[in-house]
Amino acid sequence: MLARLAAILLCLLAGGLLGAWFGGSRGITVGLVAGALGWFAVETLRAGRVLRWLRRGQPDRVPAVGGLWGEALERTRKALQARDRELAESKRRLDEFLAAMQASPNGVILLDPQGRIEWFNQTAAEQFGFDFARDKAQLIGNLVRAPTFSAYYQGRSWTQEVVIAAPGSTPTRPAKLSVHLHPYGEGRKLLLSRDITAVEQAEVMRRDFVANVSHEIRTPLTVLTGFVETLQNLSLAPEEHARYLQLMAQQAQRMQTLVSDLLTLSRLEGSPLPGAGEWTPVSALWTQCEQEARALSTILGRAQRLTIAAAPEFELAGSPNELISAMGNLLSNAVRYTPAGGRVDAAWVPHANGKLEVSVRDTGPGISPEHIPRLTERFYRVDRSRSRETGGTGLGLAIVKHVVQRHGAELKVESVVGEGSTFAIVFPASRVRAVRVTDGAEPRATESHSG
Ligand code: ADP
Repeated sequence: MLARLAAILLCLLAGGLLGAWFGGSRGITVGLVAGALGWFAVETLRAGRVLRWLRRGQPDRVPAVGGLWGEALERTRKALQARDRELAESKRRLDEFLAAMQASPNGVILLDPQGRIEWFNQTAAEQFGFDFARDKAQLIGNLVRAPTFSAYYQGRSWTQEVVIAAPGSTPTRPAKLSVHLHPYGEGRKLLLSRDITAVEQAEVMRRDFVANVSHEIRTPLTVLTGFVETLQNLSLAPEEHARYLQLMAQQAQRMQTLVSDLLTLSRLEGSPLPGAGEWTPVSALWTQCEQEARALSTILGRAQRLTIAAAPEFELAGSPNELISAMGNLLSNAVRYTPAGGRVDAAWVPHANGKLEVSVRDTGPGISPEHIPRLTERFYRVDRSRSRETGGTGLGLAIVKHVVQRHGAELKVESVVGEGSTFAIVFPASRVRAVRVTDGAEPRATESHSG
């Protein structure tokens, strides 16, 4: 400050002296004014440089200005640098926060006090079909038009979430979203959305399953109760009495089979995957299934030709019980649906890539193509009465599907109505090995089908 005062005084003094030198006592005044103007001009130049620097917005390229202006300049530069650092830090924190919101498995939408969209994450964009460039600043009520949502949004009671049909949901592919509004700040709202399609589907499946099981059990139970009442109230001839007991035993057996299939299914769903350490020859698996299939054929009075093809031996890795259950279900289905005089052929064929196809072919009624994708659904039946007549529970192929999946295999169904069906399980090469038979020796396993 003193330097500045000295500079002004120096300018005035120089001006005054020069004025006195050239113009005497009258020249002093002119000299003083000229000195003051000179000082003002220098100051204006300096101020101009500072202003240009400020306008340029490049705080690091500081002009060389000394004195008071220089200090003001340096302080401004520091203040600007501190502000820039703060801004960068705020931006970094905002980016991190938005990245966290992006990582959320739920949809996140930020709404301003008018209900206009300020920001949303990718999940919300997918769930609602939003596009940031198109839908930013749009009113949420104009974009989400589900009546349930409109009522919820207008209601202003947002303590609970509400379930709406997702935009793009169709009757054949229904999609459900659960949305929840949370007010925050001054009139702003946070809208969280969750895709609950799978949860809803699981709930529908659970309800259907319970309804189906109840129905399947109620039918034989009603018949049984009817017979019990008859036996209690009527005095029947011994033969009739025996016939009624026989029918009752049939119904009890039906319930037993159903419960046993249900238990098999729940065991398959709840137990750990079968390891690949236990190897069983395919022929041994078929032999076990064959005995039951022949017994069933006799009970049903079907004189079919049932053959198990003789082929080079292979071994399968997995749970023998599960494999017998799956292969047995395929064989018993073929027996149950093929009329007397028909043929049922079980076989196994290695594929060139090391896989093994285990199949059952029959000359039964065949299945029309529209039913084939649904055969493995629980309780799905093409011909309800034929299934029941032959003791079907509607769960056989569901059990097969589970076993097949658990062994990393694939179920193939080929069928021609009126000609017959072929059900095949293709096992992956990792679960298949050939058995080499040497003269006079026991069959020996080799790892020829791996990879
Ligand atoms: P079910 O106990 O009714 O046989 P499954 O799950 O084993 O139940 O089979 C589902 C449906 O697939 C059966 O109801 C039947 O309509 C059809 N199906 C299964 N195997 C055969 C077959 N070999 N020939 C014709 N239809 C079959």
